[in-house]
Amino acid sequence: MTEPQWLEAWSAEEGARRVGELFTRSFEGSPDGVWSAPGRVNLIGEHTDYNAGLCLPTALPHRTYVALRPREDDRVRLVSAQAEGVWEISLSDVAPGAVTGWGAYVSGVAWALTQAGHKVSGFDAAVDSCVPFGAGLSSSAALEAAFAVALDAVGGLGLATSDAGRAELVDATRRAENEIAGAPTGGLDQSASLRCREGYALLLDFRPGLDPLESAVPVPFDLEPAGLTLLVVDTRAEHSHVSGEYGARRAACERAAGLLGLASLREIAPTLGGVGLDRALAELEPHDPDGVLRRRVRHVVSETDRTARFADLVREGRAADVGPFMLASHASLRDDYEVSCRELDLVVDTAVAAGALGARMTGGGFGGSAIALVRRSDVDTVVAAVAGAFADAGLTAPAFLLAPPSAPAA
Ligand code: ADP
Ligand code: MG
Repeated sequence: MTEPQWLEAWSAEEGARRVGELFTRSFEGSPDGVWSAPGRVNLIGEHTDYNAGLCLPTALPHRTYVALRPREDDRVRLVSAQAEGVWEISLSDVAPGAVTGWGAYVSGVAWALTQAGHKVSGFDAAVDSCVPFGAGLSSSAALEAAFAVALDAVGGLGLATSDAGRAELVDATRRAENEIAGAPTGGLDQSASLRCREGYALLLDFRPGLDPLESAVPVPFDLEPAGLTLLVVDTRAEHSHVSGEYGARRAACERAAGLLGLASLREIAPTLGGVGLDRALAELEPHDPDGVLRRRVRHVVSETDRTARFADLVREGRAADVGPFMLASHASLRDDYEVSCRELDLVVDTAVAAGALGARMTGGGFGGSAIALVRRSDVDTVVAAVAGAFADAGLTAPAFLLAPPSAPAA
């Protein structure tokens, strides 16, 4: 059997060296500095961000590095070790619908900061990353967040120095992804990359109108004392129509909320004085002959409830007890929200059979990554079992990461 493939995180020095060298090779002179931002893994709370719900991400040790130097004009020139050639644009040409390619994520951040009233000049920048692309671990948010803190620093905006300022950077990066890159994601990824803390998970509450301190509460998440570790499995599964499926799920949630006369599905939660799940499902029945809307609603409402309970257990130092919530989350995403796939199900089933305390898909689904909560002494057994199951099924070999809760964009 071939050795399982591990994706190691780079040290800060290695990341800085790589982008520094790429910058110097691509542009003349040296950068003003190096900034970086992490990918993220969501412990629980999937497809809840755009439903004003709860989610609970941590930052990965895997980061995207940016070496940047501002320019006198409004030109942006970008190179990436993960992309061909030089990507160029003038900031005055950045507008919704007008930008294609990976530079949309970057120039979108500059555009959104300008929209928010900040003065942003052009820049030359080099990018390199050990966050796997398109693996559900938010390489896109890592890219946006690294540029957000870089532009904050060179422009003297002063936003990255406080959590409230970082919440503004989250808005800018989310707008970049939604409006310039054209991906209708809900804000989880950018919040995680900019606001997580080392040793903590971040309980995000997407109800509108909360102040920054209410919307993101750090929860200590240290698995070491319990002898546990969080294993991430990048399934390498590639699926088509992912963004269409994502849009369809969002649209179903909006339709259900509309039929119920609610601003969002979060208002169903009885703890918020909502109508309650059973009553909401009964009200939807006449409009929902095939039951699809009700399944989507049941996932969203139960998932926010599971997230709250998972966070309570973690707060009480009972991380070893969260496994059943992970499994219930996965089952709900598989059966009610219908965003899992064969590869994700295989990771979950195999990991649990090999001794994991819990496992679930993480991220939007249809491929990407799954996580497993594993005793440190069982990591090799679980990894070998998952790698073996993929080989037996004739699937592309998955990649493995360890995910201690790590530091935000800096
Ligand atoms: P995920 O965020 O889950 O990794 P996305 O599809 O949201 O997947 O984002 C991946 C896209 O982000 C890539 O296709 C590319 O356009 C852009 N991207 C991310 N990281 C980099 C990088 N280091 N260099 C160039 N483009 C990147
Ligand atoms: Mg993304």
